[in-house]
Amino acid sequence: MDTILVVNAGSSSVKFQVFAVEGEGRLKRQIKGQIDGIGSRPRLRASGADGNTIADRAYPIESVPDVPSAMAVAGAWLREENSINPVAVGHRVVHGGPDHSRPVLIDHGVVGRLERYISLAPLHQPHNLAPIRTILSNSPALPQVACFDTAFHRDHDALADHYAIPYQLHAEGIRRYGFHGLSYEYIARRLPQVAPDIAGGRVIVAHLGSGASMCAMKNGKSVESTMGFTALDGLAMGTRPGQLDPGVVLYLLSEKGMPASKVQDFLYRECGLKGLSGVSNDMRELQTSTDPRAKFAVDYFVYRVGLNAGMLAAALQGLDAFVFTAGIGENSSSIRALIAERLGWLGVTIDAAENDKHSGKISASNSKIPVYVVPTDEELMIAQHTLALLMSRQSANPNRARAS
Ligand code: ADP
Repeated sequence: MDTILVVNAGSSSVKFQVFAVEGEGRLKRQIKGQIDGIGSRPRLRASGADGNTIADRAYPIESVPDVPSAMAVAGAWLREENSINPVAVGHRVVHGGPDHSRPVLIDHGVVGRLERYISLAPLHQPHNLAPIRTILSNSPALPQVACFDTAFHRDHDALADHYAIPYQLHAEGIRRYGFHGLSYEYIARRLPQVAPDIAGGRVIVAHLGSGASMCAMKNGKSVESTMGFTALDGLAMGTRPGQLDPGVVLYLLSEKGMPASKVQDFLYRECGLKGLSGVSNDMRELQTSTDPRAKFAVDYFVYRVGLNAGMLAAALQGLDAFVFTAGIGENSSSIRALIAERLGWLGVTIDAAENDKHSGKISASNSKIPVYVVPTDEELMIAQHTLALLMSRQSANPNRARAS
């Protein structure tokens, strides 16, 4: 059976999923796994199609010191213990830079170009590229596809793409890219099925997870996002502050004497819900905590979602629907209810019983703006893109020998 491997590599973990290619290009998830604790306490965990655990094993630190070695361990486990030899590999790559508005088949030239964007996403891009390079050198005939978090937003208007800084810096790549694009693209493709009445309209999608952002969509296309040059901007997140006056960064550098690397670490790991609460970066823990600062952090999160929704509704010049997705958006009825309350002025009313079901339409029948919960699936989106590119490559050259 043909399979597609999807890889999402970070600094200390490699997540992977295997999809079986069924008739007419349908994909069925077979395996979901990850190696985390890379370089500290490496551990492989995986589950099968029905969610049952099929692997849970620890490795000595010296056998999985980095991302390429984790990829090798995962690859050997898939090949030798599960007989998985994928026909293609799809990768999540955070940054496609200014030029990539769709996924791309990888070769050495593409890797070289994507390396230029390391400076735009230093915490993610090098780790995303590491397994690509490993596979390129070990299995050069195996097709690989890069799918970008920025791509979905690339066609937004120039007004949404610029900062008010000298033009030359925009040309150099200092732009408002926007992220979580694979999630938004998946939702845009699901909306015609789950909510056909509003799929072609003006929709705000709130991707609320450890990382959080919102996207304004018109007719299934991104027109505005709360994130910009990096994934630091916009909403408060688990450990990132969201919107911050750049003067604060200047203050940290000049008055507090923090070196740039420390400021970077601070902004990515010590702020957001964690910094505000002093309790946790995890929404579930904040909601069960009795510490007043935990409650304040939750209130702050909700408040900023409301403020940003106002901004995005202005970008859309109106609003036809609001969609929740990702860890918090899909699972927390209480956060959704608090956010809906903040959106009351727009005409949003939640149906409490529907909200508790965590899926489909959750707004009351008299709500002016319908509200939905739509579970996201970024990995399926990557697998679909990978299969589509593979098929177009094969139809362009039917004599090409299939990689195995
Ligand atoms: P990421 O993929 O960015 O790591 P997720 O989309 O998995 O993040 O979301 C993780 C967040 O979702 C965490 O803050 C977690 O506490 C929150 N979350 C998951 N389930 C619930 C729940 N039932 N109630 C509240 N928050 C939840």
